[in-house]
Amino acid sequence: MASACAHIDAVQTVVHAKARVCDECVKIQSQWLHLRTCQTCGVTRCCDSSPNRHASRHARESHHPVIASAEPGQRWLYCYPDDGFAEY
Ligand SMILES: [Zn+2]
Ligand SMILES: [Zn+2]
Ligand SMILES: [Zn+2]
Repeated sequence: MASACAHIDAVQTVVHAKARVCDECVKIQSQWLHLRTCQTCGVTRCCDSSPNRHASRHARESHHPVIASAEPGQRWLYCYPDDGFAEY
């Protein structure tokens, strides 16, 4: 795996989405564009191009730095605090 920052280096096994929905958007009956899965706790939330940006809010509130894309065919990790990116 390409090295982007210590947080991404710490990801040994990529955590994948359990269900392809943003739970927070479902609660408020909103929509999302793309999904991201938190590599610390495994929740799946919507991306920054979505109206509610739940993935970055989750990262801020829980201090979980790294997400993986939950989109089919996309194999990359992103670290919020370091703005780090790595494909796997
Ligand atoms: Zn990092
Ligand atoms: Zn959402
Ligand atoms: Zn998390």
